[in-house]
Amino acid sequence: MSGIYLHIPFCKQACSYCDFYFVTRTSEREHFVQRLVQDIKSYRDSKFTEETVETIYFGGGTPSLLEPAQLEEIIDTLYDVFDIDEREITLEMNPDDVSAQFLADLKSMGINRASMGVQSFEPELLEFMHRAHSREEALRCLELLGASNFNSFTVDLIYGNPGQSVEQLKSDVKKLLEFDPPHISAYSLTIEPKTRLGKQVELGRIAPPEDDKVAKHFDTINKLFSSHGIERYEVSNYSLPGKEAIHNSNYWEHENYLGLGPGAHSFWWDDSAKRWENEQDLRKYLRSEDHPEKEKLSLKQLAEERLMMGLRTRKGVRVAELSEQYGYTLNDRQLEYLQNREQEDKVKVDDRITLTDGGIKIADAIILDLVTLH
Ligand code: SF4
Repeated sequence: MSGIYLHIPFCKQACSYCDFYFVTRTSEREHFVQRLVQDIKSYRDSKFTEETVETIYFGGGTPSLLEPAQLEEIIDTLYDVFDIDEREITLEMNPDDVSAQFLADLKSMGINRASMGVQSFEPELLEFMHRAHSREEALRCLELLGASNFNSFTVDLIYGNPGQSVEQLKSDVKKLLEFDPPHISAYSLTIEPKTRLGKQVELGRIAPPEDDKVAKHFDTINKLFSSHGIERYEVSNYSLPGKEAIHNSNYWEHENYLGLGPGAHSFWWDDSAKRWENEQDLRKYLRSEDHPEKEKLSLKQLAEERLMMGLRTRKGVRVAELSEQYGYTLNDRQLEYLQNREQEDKVKVDDRITLTDGGIKIADAIILDLVTLH
């Protein structure tokens, strides 16, 4: 079983916090689609087509900037080249691109999960984040989703904005919950150096959000989501039971995936495990000059990755999986470290290692400590 990720690198404008790869010029969309179609065809009869593909994910950038006919051409080509038994086909979209007709077109071409980038309903926060959509567009779009026959959808929300009060966050969350989303991704705003926000922080124009304030925001969303039966299953991902994202969960469990388009990552483990990233350069991609180096991963690297990704999830990591799958045994120093964190109620260890609600807030620090003790 494997997945396919397609990176659609076009955006209307640059959001202030974003460090994904995208371009804001629009002229090359059709050329890109034709190149992507050619790229997909180049995998015909390769080893990547031997496994059944169960998930397809259109990410970006902004996939909803492509025309339905362009998306359909990409999907038809995927079905032509790969053995697809689709459990989940997701397309990321922004509220300002969505109409009832657009959603109906997506559904008719087999896309069964919509991922909506709302981030906030507060006009001043939308402006601060330099989002292209308004509060009204976000609300209208969620109404359209509710009225459409997409029964699986997810909404992105951002918390921990400098200057964002807990009250503002509560109001955003409550508004969102009125639409009964089966899945929500809630991200704490991170300040990335090469972004507009990163520059503003560097120049001292904006103070980055304080840790205790972000922790308060995290508690607030957990509580409000939970009261609606929406539980956290990963640091930033929440869902109703059975509505967890399949494609992203597969990343955390080292399932194979092929990434297509500029900046897309791939991971493939057959006789050995390899990872590679297409260059973040649309022009090179269009000229077919992108030949990324494949990095071969050792079992130790894979075990550490599995710990890093798995401990961020509610399921955690099975101790036996570490030895069976990766030949990785926890040493005495790691066991002692886990015992100490267990006494502080940050970690739970039985046949699995999991982080408690208190531990998940400092997940990155715990994981880093744990892997460096090996
Ligand atoms: S957050 Fe999304 S819409 Fe905004 S610039 Fe990044 S990829 Fe584009």
